Amino acid sequence: MKKLISIILFVVLSLGTWAQRTEIKIPDIPNFVTLKCDFHMHSVFSDGSVWPTVRVEEAWRDGLDAIALTEHIEYRPHSQDITSDHNRSYEIALPVAKQKGILLVKAAEITRAMPPGHLNVLFTKNNNLLERENVLDALKEAKEQGAFFIWNHPGWKAQQPDTIKWYDMHTQLYDNGMMHGVEIFNEKEYYPEVFQWALDKQLTIFANSDVHSPIDMTYINGEKRPITLVFAKNKSLKSLKQAMFKHQTATYFNGKIMGDSKWLKPIFKRSIKVMNHPVGVRNNISTEVHIHNSSELDYHLESTKPGIGIDYPNKLVLKAGKTTSFTISGNSVGIGNVPNLTLFYTVKNLWIKPDENLSVEIKVRNL
Ligand code: ZN
Repeated sequence: MKKLISIILFVVLSLGTWAQRTEIKIPDIPNFVTLKCDFHMHSVFSDGSVWPTVRVEEAWRDGLDAIALTEHIEYRPHSQDITSDHNRSYEIALPVAKQKGILLVKAAEITRAMPPGHLNVLFTKNNNLLERENVLDALKEAKEQGAFFIWNHPGWKAQQPDTIKWYDMHTQLYDNGMMHGVEIFNEKEYYPEVFQWALDKQLTIFANSDVHSPIDMTYINGEKRPITLVFAKNKSLKSLKQAMFKHQTATYFNGKIMGDSKWLKPIFKRSIKVMNHPVGVRNNISTEVHIHNSSELDYHLESTKPGIGIDYPNKLVLKAGKTTSFTISGNSVGIGNVPNLTLFYTVKNLWIKPDENLSVEIKVRNL
């Protein structure tokens, strides 16, 4: 019997290697799925140190839905050993992406001095045609292929040592449909100025890893890669592209989400649930409220105004995956007859502007 079990175990184990995917717990919102994405990474086909399929494996394990391999067109330090063309990285990764259910966006990184700096072009058709002497010819070619353009790491110190500058050339690109998005976060760096540009100019915002080494060598000791959240009609390349052109993204890094309140509000709303309706608050009596947070973010709340007929905590942390209890107490005679109570908070780790947090109202049924 023991022998039989070990034979069965051996057969099962030798069928393949196991891997675990960690889902990213950020909810879908009404009418949209929340796709978790990283649109900037490298393999040995440019200056990265891993094979393209490893990027897909890593993405699957990290709970991502869509990625892009953005090999530099102009910078290929392994070209003595890797002699293939500019489409090869995508072609190698694609079958694995399909098997894993990861959307693989065909892409490249046009890599020039400032201006214009480095631009990712997504949804390209033939990357070989992007190898051009003149940068404008390369960008025009990408435009003809219907590409979505992202200005990568606009605040990168190597190219912008003193200040973060938007050059005339960027206006030219923007006016001619060759600048649709910007990275407000790259690898481990956040650019608040660029977030403001995005708001002023209606640019789509991104947070990408720009990873070159194996992902676990870049993000260590509990660090996580930055993620772009795309709010798409469904999980398909077509919907993904549409959503990007319509600015339907937010960024997620270091436990913070940044983006328009029309995305952040429903994310917050769908993450939390009052567990003990109705709470039954009465005058001069303290009552417990229990709120569950099913997302993976700890929400840090600070009250923005006093309650109407009630006292409630000035500060509150709704821990990820936990139910938090706190007390509300009635401070007016008629409170026992009020059907609904409202708690007014800002969420200190949800950002709608570089200097402004999301305001929320938490409704608690009283009767
Ligand atoms: Zn890059």
